Amino acid sequence: RAKAKGRSQYQIYSKTISKQLSEEMVIEKYLYEAAENQDFMLYYQPFIDMEAGKVVGTEALIRWYHPKKGFIPPDKFIPLAEKTGLIVPIGNWVLQEACRQNKAWQDQGYKPITMSINISALQFARDDFIEVVKCTLKEVGLAPEYIALEITEGIAVENIEENILKLRQLKELGVKISIDDFGTGFSSLSYFTKFPIDSLKIDRSFIQNITNCPQSRAIVSTIISMGRALGIENIAEGIETKNQLDFIKKENCNKAQGYLFSKPITPKDFEKLLIDNKKYS
Ligand code: C2E
Ligand code: MG
Ligand code: MG
Ligand code: MG
Repeated sequence: RAKAKGRSQYQIYSKTISKQLSEEMVIEKYLYEAAENQDFMLYYQPFIDMEAGKVVGTEALIRWYHPKKGFIPPDKFIPLAEKTGLIVPIGNWVLQEACRQNKAWQDQGYKPITMSINISALQFARDDFIEVVKCTLKEVGLAPEYIALEITEGIAVENIEENILKLRQLKELGVKISIDDFGTGFSSLSYFTKFPIDSLKIDRSFIQNITNCPQSRAIVSTIISMGRALGIENIAEGIETKNQLDFIKKENCNKAQGYLFSKPITPKDFEKLLIDNKKYS
């Protein structure tokens, strides 16, 4: 009996696995097509400067709408793009499009803002990465100071010497460097003295809990004061409530991003934010 039951459970399990596998394979096939045709869009989510209460930057976030599958979130296809190497052409497209858009807004006469662009570890690791950034900026005609590259703490864990060199070259080029999802990696704090970093984005998981968890509050205020002491700007990710905003303001966090201000929106809608030039308090 136990054996029979075991077997049937195994069959159910194996069916679920193969269904997941084929689903992934279908999405993988669609992803190749999408990368080929550049079937993506960028949405934009503003950064608010806490002192001025104004939009001072935006993060470019990739969106993929597939005619059959509908909307496929980045958390689902970015890992697949990394696994297949498609992240390289996709990432190059993101870089190009985000720079183009920022330059277009400048040309339309809006107050210049910083465009923050997510860079996958695989893109960063490539030998031609700096050249790609340099050429893209040149081609688009955007000054380097108007982009920030968001990388993760992983760069401070592997190939450390090589990565420090790369970051220095990027700094020489004039672009800004942000550490994304800060606090979730396992890097040693000593890397702050060696890595040229402009800003830290405090991960949403800490922000989420600041109103009900004293430990999260302690982590957030420690990150903020450490950043300040080291001359690194702090950006709080995922601010959703007034209470969270009040807390990070009290701690003198430099900038914030989150649904409380705006979700990621289309370029057209973002333009309306620029036109409104609203003051957030
Ligand atoms: P991330 O870079 O940490 O981006 C922040 C994510 O949090 C975004 O999700 C954003 O929509 C979401 N978010 C922002 N504020 C709030 C909030 O107040 N509440 C909640 N619940 N969520 C908030 P999204 O757009 O789904 O992107 C997920 C992740 O996918 C990004 O995390 C990033 O790691 C990756 N990603 C997105 N676009 C790109 C890209 O162009 N290139 C690469 N390599 N990765 C990308
Ligand atoms: Mg990011
Ligand atoms: Mg982030
Ligand atoms: Mg995050």
